[in-house]
Amino acid sequence: MKPPVALVAGATALALIAIAPAVLPDFYVTLLNYIALSSMVSLGLVLLTGVGGLTSFGQAAFVGLGAYTTAVLTTKYGVSPWFTLAIGLAITTAVALFLGFLTLRLSGHYLPLSTIAWGISLYFLFGNLEVLGGQTGLSGLPALELAGLKLDSGGSFYYLIWVVLLLSMLGVRNLLDSRVGRAIRALKRGSLMAEAFGVDTARVKVVIFLIAALLAALSGWLYAHLLRFVNPSPFGINIGIEYLFMAVIGGASQVWGAIVGAGLLTLLKEWLQDWLPKILGNSGNFEMIVFGVLMVLLLQRARDGVLPMFERLIPAGTGPVGPPAPAAALLNRPRPEAGELLLEVRKAEKRFGGLVAVNELSFSMRSGEILGLIGPNGAGKSTMFNLITGVLPTTSGEIQFRGQRLDGLASREIVRFGIARTFQHVHLIPNMSVLDNVALGAHLRGTHGVLAAAMRNNRREEARLRFEAARQLERVGLGNHLHDQAGSLPLGQQRILEIARALCADPVLLLLDEPGAGLRYMEKEALAGLLRKLRSEGISVLLVEHDMDLVMNLVDRLVVMEFGQKLAEGVPSAIQADPRVLEAYLGGVA
Ligand code: ADP
Ligand code: MG
Repeated sequence: MKPPVALVAGATALALIAIAPAVLPDFYVTLLNYIALSSMVSLGLVLLTGVGGLTSFGQAAFVGLGAYTTAVLTTKYGVSPWFTLAIGLAITTAVALFLGFLTLRLSGHYLPLSTIAWGISLYFLFGNLEVLGGQTGLSGLPALELAGLKLDSGGSFYYLIWVVLLLSMLGVRNLLDSRVGRAIRALKRGSLMAEAFGVDTARVKVVIFLIAALLAALSGWLYAHLLRFVNPSPFGINIGIEYLFMAVIGGASQVWGAIVGAGLLTLLKEWLQDWLPKILGNSGNFEMIVFGVLMVLLLQRARDGVLPMFERLIPAGTGPVGPPAPAAALLNRPRPEAGELLLEVRKAEKRFGGLVAVNELSFSMRSGEILGLIGPNGAGKSTMFNLITGVLPTTSGEIQFRGQRLDGLASREIVRFGIARTFQHVHLIPNMSVLDNVALGAHLRGTHGVLAAAMRNNRREEARLRFEAARQLERVGLGNHLHDQAGSLPLGQQRILEIARALCADPVLLLLDEPGAGLRYMEKEALAGLLRKLRSEGISVLLVEHDMDLVMNLVDRLVVMEFGQKLAEGVPSAIQADPRVLEAYLGGVA
């Protein structure tokens, strides 16, 4: 069997990194040290910005925090550098949590702007505090000692920096390949879908912000002991911008992109500083101008960074194939008795300004039912779904599930009751596999967090979650697409994917918003078969659907809505004969 290309490439890269100090001149070893230190910061940004979609220009300030903490404590108080590392990380944690809680609630351009603001504040703090040595900085930091070895040269430091970097990369990669990782990857598309499956998106944002800050501080600590001198200039906002460039240029959503970007930018700047004066003379700072132009060109040519260009060279079909290995089934929640009162909506109302989208609507649902919610476009069906699942707060009225109030709860709390849904406009992560997208639905059925994931202590649970996802995909008929990118499926199948994802949440009540849209006749038949089977297993379904053939042959009862109000309610045969319904709704169709 041929080893996979990625493995060969990885092993070659590792071998090159290992022999570099032995074969390269000192100058290049120093350069490689700087590349690794920058990679660590840009790795944090790959996680925060590339994957999580949160832009920070202020990472250099965290590097400074790590560097200055150790500089002050080792030179002024004689503290051991290993101890100052712990203190630096603790201070960074405190600052990052404070800034994170303050700024991560901001959206759009407010977040990047606020990172610029605190990036500048911290920079000026470094330069103006007497104890930090002002603009001159602090010198005379002790060399690090490791197992009796004094790391007082670039060559001896090299292995420490690279081992720390590679371990960090491995940790981030493991994290992304986990339950929390799927939640992180969902952030970029807004919080709606992730919250509907129980993810506390605000918390996940703080977590990746903290990880990025800690990686930066770790880089700062190493930097300080490599140079054994610190001053404010490497921690300014312009350097913060460079870190962001590195992450974006490399290929912002991939771990290896961090090194590629940092390497490219560091080498580029070095070469420009060497060669430009020879071509253009020493009269000006041309390198920054040329550097800027090159960045613009690169971003124009390679939107997703340069890493995807290399990946195109890798032959297709090297990814995973076949279903995941069988694993112990996840526990299911107890299903209610058939006929038990499940959902009760009492005079629910939703106003959008002057528009009453749902107007004092009341209906109830018993366990084991498929209830159809129909009505013309704009009748308020999707809004009703959003009220039940907590996506929108009710203006007034009450919604109860098995005797407990739902209105007023957040959607991530409502899913815990066993209420899962699909969306009329699909919400999935297009560049993630079908299997991973569906596994996100089982978020609440796992418990392992960031540390377990980074250290790969989560593999047994992860296998169970993925096996469950594969099982549900098999069940809805997407078993042949496990490893396809979700975005590559036709829209109709993306809706079916959403059903599998909802089933992964182990629901008692399933809310499906137009699941048949975009499906062909045979696929609709299969869908009807699936919903009947779910009903026989004790899963109740609330269904919004426009295809009347599908609805009338499937549902037990119907609620008809018009202009936010209930027009009629009853079994399909009665609804089909109801003159008001024929007038208002079916009349137009017939
Ligand atoms: P349906 O799903 O039955 O087609 P919707 O529930 O999507 O209808 O919409 C009902 C009404 O509420 C429509 O007039 C729609 O324009 C309005 N509406 C829905 N969501 C919002 C919103 N977030 N803000 C303002 N108006 C909305
Ligand atoms: Mg709708």
